[in-house]
Amino acid sequence: MTSQTTTHEFQAETKKLLDIVINSLYTERDVFIRELISNAADALEKFRHESLTVEDLFDAHMPLEITIDLDKDKHTFAISDTGIGMSRAELEANLGTIAHSGSNTFLTQLAEAARKDVNLIGQFGVGFYAAFMAGQRVRVQSRSWDGSEGHEWASDGSGSYTISEEKGLHRGTRIIVELKDDAHEYGEKWKVEQIIKQYSSFVSFPIKLEGEVVNTVQALWTRNRSEISEEEYAEFYKFVGNAATDPMYRLHFSADVPLAINALLFVPRDNFEHLGFGRVDPGVNLYCQRVLIDQHSKHILPEWLRFLKGVVDSEDLPLNISRQSLQDNALLAKVRRVITKRFLKYLDEEAKKDPAAYLEFWKIFGIYLKEGVTSDYEFQKELGKLIRFESSRSEAGIPVALAEYVERMGEGQETIYYISGPNRAAIEAGPYVEMFRRRDIEILYTLEPIDDFVLNHLGEFEGKKLVSADRADLDLGEDKRSAEDQGEPQQETMDEGSSAVLVSWLKKTLAEKVKEVIISKRLVDSPAMIVNPDGYMTSSMERIMAVSRLEKGIAPEAGKKNLEINPANPLIKRLAELQKSDEPFAQAVAEQIYDNAMIQAGLVVDPLTLVERNYKILNRAAGV
Ligand code: ADP
Ligand code: MG
Repeated sequence: MTSQTTTHEFQAETKKLLDIVINSLYTERDVFIRELISNAADALEKFRHESLTVEDLFDAHMPLEITIDLDKDKHTFAISDTGIGMSRAELEANLGTIAHSGSNTFLTQLAEAARKDVNLIGQFGVGFYAAFMAGQRVRVQSRSWDGSEGHEWASDGSGSYTISEEKGLHRGTRIIVELKDDAHEYGEKWKVEQIIKQYSSFVSFPIKLEGEVVNTVQALWTRNRSEISEEEYAEFYKFVGNAATDPMYRLHFSADVPLAINALLFVPRDNFEHLGFGRVDPGVNLYCQRVLIDQHSKHILPEWLRFLKGVVDSEDLPLNISRQSLQDNALLAKVRRVITKRFLKYLDEEAKKDPAAYLEFWKIFGIYLKEGVTSDYEFQKELGKLIRFESSRSEAGIPVALAEYVERMGEGQETIYYISGPNRAAIEAGPYVEMFRRRDIEILYTLEPIDDFVLNHLGEFEGKKLVSADRADLDLGEDKRSAEDQGEPQQETMDEGSSAVLVSWLKKTLAEKVKEVIISKRLVDSPAMIVNPDGYMTSSMERIMAVSRLEKGIAPEAGKKNLEINPANPLIKRLAELQKSDEPFAQAVAEQIYDNAMIQAGLVVDPLTLVERNYKILNRAAGV
């Protein structure tokens, strides 16, 4: 025998992982069978894919299948596949380390997931190590498709594993799980069959359990929609999505022109990024004529649809397309466009059919659609229909569609207005909405940091411009309805001479801070407000850019704003007099008005200066 056994330590992360798998996950250990079957199927898919382009494959005659053999007396569970196999180096690399190398956060998240719901482990790809949930010792015999000598990997899952040469193996992998004393049930046919039916019915290779094929090998997505039951869809979703619940939405569609496509897409119930698991990987697999070309494909859908699970199959793609060339394949780009448009259309239809259900979707996945608007020009028109915002006419917490806004627009209104704020109450108490209230014009509330970027990128909807209400050049037209009409006492406006004097004094006093001081045509009650002379940047956007500059260690450079003052406001009128009689105090008041307006715009002021000045003013008011 040339065979020589070498002993290797597991990578530190792998040890921790094994510890979690063995000690925390044992309650749901049925899933180890699913993990091993899924690896076997992956290996078969990889082989099938290679065999399309490579000739003279080792053991080419072997049928592509998965075989499970049980030994009730010796208490073993053995699973074999005729897939791609592993060389000695691959056994070491794949089964001795975790791909997510050095990731302690990964382990923390995994431990957390294990505590919450063991079905989440599939999402993490701990895969193979699940064998140690049921096995006290696990042996992996494998021979690579390149025909190099086979090897056996063996471990009890504690600290190390051994590798030795193993003669006479066929191509593929055989994993022998020597069952723990309390796991002997996995040596029983009925038990294993039940688990396969539950988790692995849709594996696209025959699974032979003690000589008998126990799954139905079929590509569900190529079947006629009317012949597929709800249960089959739900089971399939759990299979492709590694999910424990039913999906929120499902779209099964087929097209022949311009391209032959079969797609089956699911929206899950949870957003794993929200749940704090980091960025999710794409969840849609790309097939070509039922052959898996690219699992969890990054290319078949835009990145912002990474929350979707499912399958896309196109007969028009060349079968021998390599994974590298997927990136810039023109045909694939076409398929992606067709599917994306179809999916967005489906969402729009669902939103109309059942608005409440759509809002549920929007609450959980809306952030991805917003990401789509800001990162992808191609689908803006479709996405514009799907985004939702609260507004001055919506109920609190019930966002509306841009289309609803447009439908409610008064005659002659050509613009969709919005204003950002931390919440409804803050916006409604602020200066920006008063003129809209007065003119009875609806205004959208952008409550999330990304929202202004979204509307800014979108630019317009159905030919109506989207404009932030804090723009300096906003023109709402003359306020035709007099205050008397609305039953309010008419506020006397400052005469032009005094207001001109006040404006030039304010400009001088606040020269360091403001770009322009302007007599407002739109303020109703508030004394002043900050508006943005740069038509594209809103205060909310500026605040976020400032934060991101700070995070990068760059000094935030705030562009100077315009200050609009309300000539009918009593404080402003009084300020005009004060400026003549007590200039130092007038200056403090002017600066305080400016700071207050900045705060209402959500912008940063220097809190120390503000508090000091505020006390000065309070002292005076209190007669100190
Ligand atoms: P994942 O399947 O998410 O990659 P696993 O822990 O399940 O993670 O498997 C680790 C790696 O081991 C796989 O990526 C694959 O390279 C290899 N592997 C596992 N099982 C097999 C098998 N039956 N045949 C060939 N390679 C396998
Ligand atoms: Mg796996």
